[in-house]
Amino acid sequence: MVVTADASLGVLPRGDVLIDGSTIAAVAPELQPPPGPEPEVIDVAGRLVIPGFVDTHRHTWQSIVRGFAANWTLGQYLAGIHAGVSRHFRPEDTYLANLLGALEALDSGITTLLDWSHNLYTPEHADAAVQALRDSGLRAVFAHGGGAHEWGAVPSDVPHTADVRRVRAEHFASDDGLVTMAIALRGPQFTVPEVNRHDYALATDLDLPITVHVGDGEWGRRGPVRGMARDGLLRDRTTYVHCNTLADDELRMIADSGGSASVAPDVELAMGHGWPATRRLLDAGIRPSLSIDVCSLNGGDMFATMRTTIGVQRAFDNARAAENGNEPERLELTCRDVFEFATIDGARACGLADRAGSLTPGKQADVVVLNSGLATSPLNNPLGALVYAAHPGLVDTVFVAGQCRKRNGALVGVDVPALLSRAERSRDHVIAAFPEATRETEWFPGTVHAQEG
Ligand SMILES: [Zn+2]
Repeated sequence: MVVTADASLGVLPRGDVLIDGSTIAAVAPELQPPPGPEPEVIDVAGRLVIPGFVDTHRHTWQSIVRGFAANWTLGQYLAGIHAGVSRHFRPEDTYLANLLGALEALDSGITTLLDWSHNLYTPEHADAAVQALRDSGLRAVFAHGGGAHEWGAVPSDVPHTADVRRVRAEHFASDDGLVTMAIALRGPQFTVPEVNRHDYALATDLDLPITVHVGDGEWGRRGPVRGMARDGLLRDRTTYVHCNTLADDELRMIADSGGSASVAPDVELAMGHGWPATRRLLDAGIRPSLSIDVCSLNGGDMFATMRTTIGVQRAFDNARAAENGNEPERLELTCRDVFEFATIDGARACGLADRAGSLTPGKQADVVVLNSGLATSPLNNPLGALVYAAHPGLVDTVFVAGQCRKRNGALVGVDVPALLSRAERSRDHVIAAFPEATRETEWFPGTVHAQEG
């Protein structure tokens, strides 16, 4: 079965996908071999073929401190990660964290990752983060988010680091590569208005798309988007991350400006950001994308994220019907919707819908094959299986831009044990200053009150 996430192709109960070089040449129920040399045939009969997932917001540098925040509040997370381990990262730690996170994403069928990189102490940290994304082989957007100097005290009056200009010039002269660039701004919640205007001007000057957190918890209740509207900063090519506590008129302002949204449901629910804004975004005319956010808290695969997204929203929708004394006639949010959030809508949010997010002839061949497993067989409803039952263990084969990055369930050309032992050494280094973290199986740092940053 081929689930294309392409509006005109839909789901093919039986299909062939032809990859020619880096692109998808054809998708159809049955393809004849093209003229010329015999193509290599990968027989995936009985399996699911899908476009690679798109994660529109992940702080990939936290991959080596995976799981630390699983039982932390937002305040503990700010203390333990942002005011804690972050300052002990050397460039080689950033490299390993990004490589681990990017390969973890690939391994679970995510072929496009927006790396929301906001622990860039020095130019060498930025170079390391970019190099790791390139070395991983996945499609990535490197979103330059500065470092502790910019993020230390909020609202900050420190402008976004000028190193972003160097990174743009040295690493991203073209926007056509497998790794492209964006700017990750602190925005109206975490900078004073003059600095926010400066940072937006910098994004315009460098012709970079913007990703910005708004609407997470208390920070979002002060009308951050209204403030941006007053400053003339609402524009397209901008992804608004979270959006939980934005007012309805602010969501409409984002829609009217052509902006996109990224919902990170696991983090939002755990850290008190508010209820995921999925339904409210749809009502405002925005198809949300989905994101992992921090692997220091939750897992890094899109199957779990889709499941949280649909479970929470359906609970809301059913509760609303019950409050009105009704039984719902149908479930409004479908598995197809949520699968599209995780694929084509993510590609749109990243500005990559011309090349990724669906199995559409002419796009880049970012293709994932899932094994049929006990969890998904018999395969009676492919979209239902993808959203409610599939898991990373079923990901058999992954292509990115026509390059095979995973085959027969194993990453191609990656020495996983060696990578993991290097990542553990980096982990040991960044937590060395926190004896409790090194001694115990669970560590609770102090707390930083979110309102103080
Ligand atoms: Zn975030």
